[in-house]
Amino acid sequence: MMRQYELVERVKAYNPNTDEALLNRAYVYAMRAHGNQKRASGAPYISHPLEVAAILTELKLDDATIVAALLHDTIEDTETTREEIDRLFGADIGQLVDGLTKIQKLDLVSKKAAQAENLRKLLLAIADDVRVLLIKLADRLHNMRTLQFMAEAKRARIAEETLDIYAPLAGRMGMQDLREELESLSFRHLMPDAYAAIRQRLDEMGPKSGPLIERIENELTQKLAASGIKALVKGRLKRAYSIWKKMERKSVSFEQLSDIFGFRIVVDTVAECYAALGIVHTTWSSVPGRFKDYISTPKQNDYHSLHTTVVGPGRQRVELQIRTAEMDRIAEYGIAAHALYKDPDGKNYSDGKVRESNAYAWLRRTLETLAEGDNAEEFLEHTKLELFHDQVFCFTPKGRLIALPRNATPIDFAYAVHTDVGDTAVGAKVNGALVPLVSTLRNGDEVEIVRAEGQTPPSAWEEIVVTGKARSAIRRATRVAVRNQYAGLGQQIIERAFERIGKTYSEERLKLALPRLARSSHEDVLAAVGRGEMYSGDVIKAVFPDYREEQSAGAEANLAEGGWFGMKQGQGLVFKVPSSGDGSDKGPSAIPIRGIGGDLPVQFAPDGGAVPGDRIVGILTPGKGITIYPIQSPALTAFDDQPERWLDVRWDIDEAHPHRFPARLKVTVINEPGVLAQVASVIGESDGNIDAISITGKTADFREMVIDVEVWDLRHLNAIISQLRAKPAIHDATRVNG
Ligand code: MN
Repeated sequence: MMRQYELVERVKAYNPNTDEALLNRAYVYAMRAHGNQKRASGAPYISHPLEVAAILTELKLDDATIVAALLHDTIEDTETTREEIDRLFGADIGQLVDGLTKIQKLDLVSKKAAQAENLRKLLLAIADDVRVLLIKLADRLHNMRTLQFMAEAKRARIAEETLDIYAPLAGRMGMQDLREELESLSFRHLMPDAYAAIRQRLDEMGPKSGPLIERIENELTQKLAASGIKALVKGRLKRAYSIWKKMERKSVSFEQLSDIFGFRIVVDTVAECYAALGIVHTTWSSVPGRFKDYISTPKQNDYHSLHTTVVGPGRQRVELQIRTAEMDRIAEYGIAAHALYKDPDGKNYSDGKVRESNAYAWLRRTLETLAEGDNAEEFLEHTKLELFHDQVFCFTPKGRLIALPRNATPIDFAYAVHTDVGDTAVGAKVNGALVPLVSTLRNGDEVEIVRAEGQTPPSAWEEIVVTGKARSAIRRATRVAVRNQYAGLGQQIIERAFERIGKTYSEERLKLALPRLARSSHEDVLAAVGRGEMYSGDVIKAVFPDYREEQSAGAEANLAEGGWFGMKQGQGLVFKVPSSGDGSDKGPSAIPIRGIGGDLPVQFAPDGGAVPGDRIVGILTPGKGITIYPIQSPALTAFDDQPERWLDVRWDIDEAHPHRFPARLKVTVINEPGVLAQVASVIGESDGNIDAISITGKTADFREMVIDVEVWDLRHLNAIISQLRAKPAIHDATRVNG
């Protein structure tokens, strides 16, 4: 366990002017306050604040931060009050500890609305003083390092919250090492099998990779030295989690993943960065599409570096990061590098405000969108998107910089400029040329939005945009229109249902029945029926409580609304089919597809299917109805010359009632005992549901099989595929599209 004198030594090593007496006073105070409290591991409680403070010395933080770290759990867990801390240690430290106490109990994996509210509180506390975040991250890191001592039920939750919020937040604040360690620890707890599989492969490579890394380091150093560039070259095996992410993102197996080595070249000046890049590129062949210049266009978290991948010494593909020592320091410390030791006269900023950091500017902007008064869920969506996406920087014709997440479209750009600009956008010019509104923007694009007054944004844009701001604005603008459509449809359904039992529908009657339907307005009821959330039979029962439904008429009515026969004039209609597809009475379940009207049955393509997350199209077959295909399905080529049969459809998922969808996998395994059981257990443990397995190919060494599996969505399917690929006995796993 870390001791107090060691902590003081560490602080003194980077801050000779530290107030040693203050550090000691805080330590003694915290130790007394926590008394004989214990950690879950059985260690004395004081070990935790000590370790948290020690983590912060790695970021070379000021005395107030270290002291606040020592005291960070006192108000929360002991008799200590804010007033007492203020009195003994001053208001600056008191405010830090208070900030940490406020965010201590925030639950960031709860229901969406509560989660959003908590995230808002967290960001507000950070904006007050960024040192609160630094201490919180150190606190979380130590808790993650000791997670194995926690009750099992709590572990997954803490790990999930870490992976969802704290790790990306650390990354966004530019602290890469911290982010990687948090990710790595969470990954290990959340997906122990995948972690173990990748770990094992890395360990197998261990003995081979050590000398290889050294050889590449030497060769790079010598090549650079020969051109007069003094460089520090450091190589490493990538971490399990980043390998896993890459396997998932690129859908490749471990073997196909060539760049598991990362090398960093640290030089003195920016000019040397580019010179080193030139030498690397003229010595080895570079892999196309992998060069990125984050020096001329830094990431939003202030990350500066050149990235490239070359087929390097020994035909090994290696990823290279080239940067100066200063850039390297910022990449490691992030916002902490800016937070302190920047004052011209050598003193720390006492208020913790960061004046130069882009990361901090991001935080402020995020909080501004919060003030714009979007609802909590939309804010959450917005912030999470921002947290997880890299940025592109674009410009208005007047040169205003607009930062957007990667894959942003001109529509996102328009909404980022102003909601009115987005709502009235009809076209876009990028670098002077007209482009479709759905195209993807690139770094440095100059974007001009073509507008026409009196427009409503098409609701389909909602699926195309990537920023939360655009999405919520489009949703707001289309909500009323869509609701009216549903209400109109619902009214037709109800009128017909009333007619069938010999009654006449009237708004007044329905209004009287509202309390029984637990809805606040009659439009609400109409829209609910139109959406298929409520049956007309229930409305009849509410309006005429004495009415007895005749068995056959009721069944027919349900089938007519919810069954294979959709209603006329329905735009955005939700179709329902019996879940088993054979008309048995298990009750209807939704095929959640939007964008189809008319009296037509809907079904999924028989081979391969489509799962939410796939882009989908409907193909109309006269007399048979509409078949839904994923856009990548090869079967679609048969319809290429019949554009009139193509329908633009979208998913309409009801998140409250999750639903599995069929997908097909082709898996090639090494022919050895037990391998089939491995495949089955990977799928089972990943919460996939196997419908059928058939062996489709045999050679001496391999077995090829086709597996029909039911999954929640595309993400889930991809996760299963990656899990399968991580197993040594599984040669390959791919999705089959019929
Ligand atoms: Mn703590």
